[in-house]
Amino acid sequence: MSSKQGTYLPPHVLIFPFPAQGHLNSMLNLAQLFCLADFHVTFIVSDFNHSRLLRHSTVPATFSRYPGFQFRTLPDGLPDDHPRAGERVMDITSSVEQVTVPLFKKMMVLENFLASDSRRPVTCFVADGLMSFAADFAQENEIPYIYFRTATASYFWALFCFPQLLQAQQIPFQGKSMDGLVENIPGMEGFLRRRDLPKFYRVDDVNDSILGKVVTVSRQIVRAQAAIFNTCEDLEGLIVAQIQKHVPRVFSIGPIHEQTKTRLTKKNEEASISRTSLWAEDQSCIHWLDTQPPKSVVYVSFGSITLVTREQVLEFWHGLLNSCQRFLWVMRPDMVAGKDGIPKDLIERSKEKGLVVEWAPQEEVLNHPAVGGFLTHSGWNSTLESIAAGVPMVCWPYFGDQMINSRFVSDIWKIGLDIKDTCDRLIIEKAIRDLMEVRKEEFLERAGNMAKLVKKSVSEEGSSYKNLECLIQYIKSLLL
Ligand code: UDP
Repeated sequence: MSSKQGTYLPPHVLIFPFPAQGHLNSMLNLAQLFCLADFHVTFIVSDFNHSRLLRHSTVPATFSRYPGFQFRTLPDGLPDDHPRAGERVMDITSSVEQVTVPLFKKMMVLENFLASDSRRPVTCFVADGLMSFAADFAQENEIPYIYFRTATASYFWALFCFPQLLQAQQIPFQGKSMDGLVENIPGMEGFLRRRDLPKFYRVDDVNDSILGKVVTVSRQIVRAQAAIFNTCEDLEGLIVAQIQKHVPRVFSIGPIHEQTKTRLTKKNEEASISRTSLWAEDQSCIHWLDTQPPKSVVYVSFGSITLVTREQVLEFWHGLLNSCQRFLWVMRPDMVAGKDGIPKDLIERSKEKGLVVEWAPQEEVLNHPAVGGFLTHSGWNSTLESIAAGVPMVCWPYFGDQMINSRFVSDIWKIGLDIKDTCDRLIIEKAIRDLMEVRKEEFLERAGNMAKLVKKSVSEEGSSYKNLECLIQYIKSLLL
């Protein structure tokens, strides 16, 4: 198909992410990859996040290089002072359904599916796997629909297998040992314990409404023409093979931030690697890291959503100080629930060995030679960034896919330790000492090998690189 003037018009991909930092990061990378393939791209972003991207990120500058790219902003329906973190992140889901989605649908109809003389109407809809309206919307409007789940394939798969778990009476747990193995998720037998399942499974009633919602959105995948996962064969090949039995096409193209780097380098555009932060990055931590010995610093961050109590912060603080390691700790201003201030003596004792910032340029930090370990909440972006940088982890998962990610880190990839379901200064101290001293060489070697594997997967001969080529061809084929 061509424009009125007879010139070729490329595919037009509409991308609709869930409005949170972790989702935006991988979706913006995907948008850039499509721009590099010369596609037209429309990216839906909430007003709230858009103004933060304008203030704190390089996203506007990066995407101004691609004339085929456009943002469309819509309200997320929440007041500006809503925390959008912790348990209350679920408010975003209902607010998006009630406010954003109706406005989005109206906009699509009024604007003829975003068509213009120089742009086709949307030819393909890539929706975040959390968007429950997407399958119906795509079907009603006859737009090909691609399901993009930004979490691990394994997490998605554990939710998808809900019917089997229910049938085998694995849920509810009914007081059974949390260390007991779960045998009804194909590909994860023998290592997945009850405590590693998504936290949503920790309910007394299998009809729990939140569990119902997360399972329903996961099962939507069967209505998609294709699915994208931010993973690669070396990390989750066996699980992706299971998912492939249920969807016509599954493209694992990750780690997507590394794929973007490869493609930009190939086009001599390294300068346009985007920083996608919703918070101001404190660059002073890089100067501080420059003054530290190689592999001596533990980087501590619990991502963009985790909330911790003051008691938990104190356990981490004592654990870190008692481990005698240097540390760089990201403490978002909104991270500590019920904060009453941190005792002065702890702050004084930290000055020698530690630095606390509100938000860091995380990828740069993880790739800094001074960083030797990562105390993380096991968010999937953070995990992938750590894997690609060859940095071993101590995992303290909080919710969502983090419970399962940390099991893979510790028991499948063996590049870290999992301390889930505890928060004790002695356990934290021991885990950090193990990672940074006692078993340092062993962990660094395995993490280094894993980094090589995932980087190879996005190189020209690699599986993720080839899968992205297939995805691009597939989207082009939809025009025929
Ligand atoms: N991040 C960052 N600076 C920080 C902390 C986090 O840039 O100080 C980024 C991090 O690199 C990652 C994202 O925020 O890409 C967090 O996503 P993740 O999936 O790890 O966790 P979530 O925030 O969704 O729980």
